[in-house]
Amino acid sequence: MNFEGKDIISIKDFSKREIDYILKYAKEMLPYADGEKFKDVLKGRILSTLFFEPSTRTRLSFESAMNRLGGRVIGFADPMGTSQKKGESLADTIRMADAYSDAIVVRHSREGAARLAAEFADAPVINAGDGAGRHPTQCLLDLFTILTEKKRIGKNKVVLLGDLKYGRTVHSLAYALALYGAELTFVSPTSLRMPKEVVEECKELGVEPVQMSSLEKAVRDADVLYVTRIQKERFPDAEEYNRVVGSYRVDNELLSNAREDLIVMHPLPRVSEIDPEVDKTSHAVYFKQAFNGVPVRMALLSLVMGGRL
Ligand code: ASP
Repeated sequence: MNFEGKDIISIKDFSKREIDYILKYAKEMLPYADGEKFKDVLKGRILSTLFFEPSTRTRLSFESAMNRLGGRVIGFADPMGTSQKKGESLADTIRMADAYSDAIVVRHSREGAARLAAEFADAPVINAGDGAGRHPTQCLLDLFTILTEKKRIGKNKVVLLGDLKYGRTVHSLAYALALYGAELTFVSPTSLRMPKEVVEECKELGVEPVQMSSLEKAVRDADVLYVTRIQKERFPDAEEYNRVVGSYRVDNELLSNAREDLIVMHPLPRVSEIDPEVDKTSHAVYFKQAFNGVPVRMALLSLVMGGRL
């Protein structure tokens, strides 16, 4: 399989075989991701990380991934220190990154921004989150986490909880899980339901998601509970946000009714939707999940830049 020069904009651009291939390669990256082994397969290559929106894990794990493979990183974490402040267009900023580097990671508040960026760059463009749109690399690390923890992706009962309307991670993940035939249950405040378009995508793949209002009930026989933060920054007005804030919380009491081997995932950052008391339980895999961003992104960078292990 050849991914050299390929843009990574949406998980929908990948077949199941391609996803399986990436996840298998990410597993090979594990000893390189934690520094146990080192091979500079991306030596002499430069990655641009252009973050027009805040990020901790995505940016740092991309940077770590590139460094772990012997490459170098340029970029910015805040567009206010760039010529965007002077009114430069996204297209022109992308043209510059294209001239200065071999691959471009871009996060932007506008849906479709990564797709647009890809039109202006010859180098591969990787979508690191576009508004309430998609987040394909998070999706791959989520799948990698489920596969590592559960030994399979399909045949799991997965509950997606929280802000399913604005949460880009769950838009990508719902589609990918449906591709693998997982059972899906959506639990959210009424105003933050999964967009129809995503539900339709799942149905087209033969999976009919169940919408449930009771978290207690949904969690009872679940294999995976994927929690999301309410995406405050996407709300058109504060009042709408105030109506839903604090409307769900995962704590040990809730989990006492769950299966012993239930895993709790979260793309992070969490605000108040998971009680810190859960961190110490065997259910919590969200910090491992965050680490998994490194091997998965190493695999992707190695594949799109053509520097194989
Ligand atoms: N870090 C994830 C994202 O960028 C989730 C979140 O922000 O809540 O989409």
